[in-house]
Amino acid sequence: MANREPQFGVTEESVLGRRDVLLAGLGIGIGLIAGCASPAPAKSARLPGPLWPSDELLAPKAAPAVAVAPLKPQTALMSNVIPRTSWTHGVPDKGDINPMLPVHWVTVHHDGMDSFGATDYASCASRLELIRMGHKGKGWADIGYHFVVDRSGRVWEGRELRYQGAHVKNNNEGNIGILCLGNFDLQKPSDAQMKSLERHLKAIMKQYKLSSANIRSHKEWPDAATACPGRNLQSKMAGVRRAVA
Ligand SMILES: [Zn+2]
Repeated sequence: MANREPQFGVTEESVLGRRDVLLAGLGIGIGLIAGCASPAPAKSARLPGPLWPSDELLAPKAAPAVAVAPLKPQTALMSNVIPRTSWTHGVPDKGDINPMLPVHWVTVHHDGMDSFGATDYASCASRLELIRMGHKGKGWADIGYHFVVDRSGRVWEGRELRYQGAHVKNNNEGNIGILCLGNFDLQKPSDAQMKSLERHLKAIMKQYKLSSANIRSHKEWPDAATACPGRNLQSKMAGVRRAVA
């Protein structure tokens, strides 16, 4: 089924689309380039979607909603995860999202925005919503990442696991996206964040029978033109894989 959510996923935070530059010039805000994701160069003649699509534009869907696999009971394994309903009223555009395929990969990201030191619940929740709206503003179905780890070690649910993510160019199939809040070119991840990331990776590996070789950072994907997850997290990736092996 044709799907207008980009399979090519994301490129690099430093590459601003013309629309973002224009909006920044209009003072509409950096939030619209939220997340490590920026618009990839267009691979088709498809025009960009409306920046703030109205319900009226989203409502009529010619294509039927995709058939999604029911959530499996083992998701209970991740009982520490804060459900998305606790931070957003937004729902994915179900006419524009693919079901998750068998999981073979986990990819680690940073958000690549401004440095972020906050650990309180409200600040983290609003940063998540900023990123979600940024991705929606690109015409995507929902926030692109499945999980988000904040600086205090909380793990938040992003896009539900039954849906394919939108976080690695050309490689979103069967690929769980984990975002670590912050910009790790500008700051270092906290110890609590790293411990939580490792714990969560272990849980995912157990659930999907993956090895540490199935864990990559965004920039470790071939052809990923990105600095994500930033040098101060990238430098820890080998240690992360050793820790969870
Ligand atoms: Zn990334």
